Amino acid sequence: MMGAATTDTMLKIEGVNKWLGDNHVLRGVDFIVRTGEIVCVLGPSGSGKSTLLRCINHLDPVDGGIIEVAGKRIGYELRGGVLYERDERAVAKARQHIGMVFQHFNLFGHMTALENVIYGPVKILKRPRRESIDKARDLLALVGMTERAEAYPSQLSGGQQQRAAIARALAMEPRLMMFDEPTSALDPELVGEVLATMRKVADEGMTMLVVTHEIGFAREVADRVVFMDQGRVVEDGPARDVLDNPAHERTATFLRRVR
Ligand code: ADP
Ligand code: MG
Repeated sequence: MMGAATTDTMLKIEGVNKWLGDNHVLRGVDFIVRTGEIVCVLGPSGSGKSTLLRCINHLDPVDGGIIEVAGKRIGYELRGGVLYERDERAVAKARQHIGMVFQHFNLFGHMTALENVIYGPVKILKRPRRESIDKARDLLALVGMTERAEAYPSQLSGGQQQRAAIARALAMEPRLMMFDEPTSALDPELVGEVLATMRKVADEGMTMLVVTHEIGFAREVADRVVFMDQGRVVEDGPARDVLDNPAHERTATFLRRVR
């Protein structure tokens, strides 16, 4: 994986702060993801990982700091006490570059797997239906769902639904794929197939930001690991350094607990 990374920056997060009510959830988060890199975010429950992904995807506005996706700047910026307005067009553009996979596979229940995958390309990207179907079949093959293309979500296992959700996100041709604990709602025997699918997506050269507790996946697939605690990045480095030889006691304690 290391070879795929270039020095181009796909995602830049600088001094991001976020409050939820009285809760200072993100306290000056900085890190970057280079094009082609796989970055895993680890951290205890409540450390702000999901909030960070929501801010990056602009499901939630930030209260300060800068987020840049593929060179498009989103987020508010506090400079000299002045809050600069976000640029709605830049936000829309940046969001189009991001594919998101959540813990709870959120397929459209009244559509087959194939219909779920072509929905975005046809309705949002305005691509021809025929071409979208051909491409969707390729993506369903990539995630190992060729046989189940015509099935409805209720007829699919959790692992199959999550793999279809990955295909649906990829169909929008994102430049960055973000995953928020994509396997933590799955029965243990279904975790492996979803991780294997994510590994395939990584092998295709996709840039990925993955929140996960799967240390084995992080060790095998990630170029870098970012460890968060209490709204801050505690540690950020090559996966093996952070996982095998953490510089901070908090990281070491967390790793001992999840192993
Ligand atoms: P993680 O994904 O790392 O478990 P989250 O980003 O979900 O962490 O949550 C970070 C913190 O924000 C937690 O302390 C959580 O309780 C708090 N939080 C989440 N949603 C809200 C909300 N709507 N209002 C207030 N606090 C919230
Ligand atoms: Mg979370």
